[in-house]
Amino acid sequence: MSQAKNAPTRSWSIDWTNLLFLGGYHLLLIVLLPLYLIQYDVSASLVWGTAAIWTLCLLAITMGYHRLYAHVTYRTHPAIEAFLAFWGTVATQGSIFSWSHDHRIHHRHVDTDLDPYSAPKGFWHSHVLWMLKKRPEINPRIIQDLWKRPSLQAQHNHYSLLMVTANVVVWIGLWAVTGDPFGSFVIGILLRMFLVHHCTWFINSLAHMWGSQPYSTEHTAVNNFILSILTFGEGYHNYHHTFAGDYRNGVRWWQFDPAKIVIWTLSKLGLAHDLKRVNKLTIKRRLVAADRHLMMERIRELKHRIDVDAWSARVEEAAASLTTNLNGLKTASDKFQRMKEEGLDSLRSVKEHKVKEMRDVRDVKMQEMRDARDETLQHMRERRDQELEALQKRIDELKATVAAEMKEWKDMVELLLETPESRLAVIPVPA
Ligand SMILES: [Zn+2]
Ligand SMILES: [Zn+2]
Repeated sequence: MSQAKNAPTRSWSIDWTNLLFLGGYHLLLIVLLPLYLIQYDVSASLVWGTAAIWTLCLLAITMGYHRLYAHVTYRTHPAIEAFLAFWGTVATQGSIFSWSHDHRIHHRHVDTDLDPYSAPKGFWHSHVLWMLKKRPEINPRIIQDLWKRPSLQAQHNHYSLLMVTANVVVWIGLWAVTGDPFGSFVIGILLRMFLVHHCTWFINSLAHMWGSQPYSTEHTAVNNFILSILTFGEGYHNYHHTFAGDYRNGVRWWQFDPAKIVIWTLSKLGLAHDLKRVNKLTIKRRLVAADRHLMMERIRELKHRIDVDAWSARVEEAAASLTTNLNGLKTASDKFQRMKEEGLDSLRSVKEHKVKEMRDVRDVKMQEMRDARDETLQHMRERRDQELEALQKRIDELKATVAAEMKEWKDMVELLLETPESRLAVIPVPA
């Protein structure tokens, strides 16, 4: 009893699996990388091969684990899903279930004690230390949509085996390309794992600390271009925490977000669909609200230099008017779009009706032509039969005539050629 009272209480326990794995491979890298670099030159094929694996792993986390599974911002072909799941497994960031589970909680409870990688707890906590603390069991209700999918269940249940196998396959593949087993392991597996991990982890740490907040100051998430480069588009984290349902993180066309370009391209190829976008006017309204908040703060800061009441009133008035007009514009554009679509629908139904009419007319006309054709054929057949009959009659008549004439002919021949000359004079010429 007394012991329990005096012992320091700790609300968490160490996740030994994560600690040994993460600590172990970092140590191995620290030892093996210098050893390798001292002994060997790094070949170009090893650099390019590792860069390719790094790219695929980060894209799989960004496009797959994050935007496809954790936020369901689009749907994609099973082959693409399998590809993303494979490279996501190679990236060694846990199963799709555990990643999405923790990430959804992060969004729902951002910056609070419930947030697994709550940034206000400090850089190291949100970057890596949170993983060394045992996480509560997965609550299937949080990932209900994913939980019922057998392929994702399998990836979760056999995660360790799949992760090791996938990395061994990648190692052997890189070894086959470079002919360098040691380098492929140290650079292609260990160093690449280190780079992919820390780039992703920066989104939980730095992307909640270092950057701008154009869309919202209600959470710690920031926009940061450099982090976008390191994670293929995840650096626009302020936008992402404000509109997590958008398949884009860099929502402006010029923002560096290769993942959004790949997803968009897949959709054009018919390999992705249901891409979710937040309406431009909704984003604008949000920007106005964020700017209003910042301006009011600034006005309060400058209270000794400016007329706070007058300025506040002016900003509030402008923000209210702009918001009202943006709302009106959104309602009108939505209605316009709806009417256009309805118009299209009715045009489509009129077109279908006309096509049906044309088809009916065509059917009647064709039947008429078919009947006419049959009549003509019948007529021709009859005429032909009559002609044939007449011909037959003529042939029979001619045959009879010929037979009669032949008989007469023969008689004549017999008479003229075989009758003695003396008797010819007395025989009369046949009629
Ligand atoms: Zn975040
Ligand atoms: Zn997210």
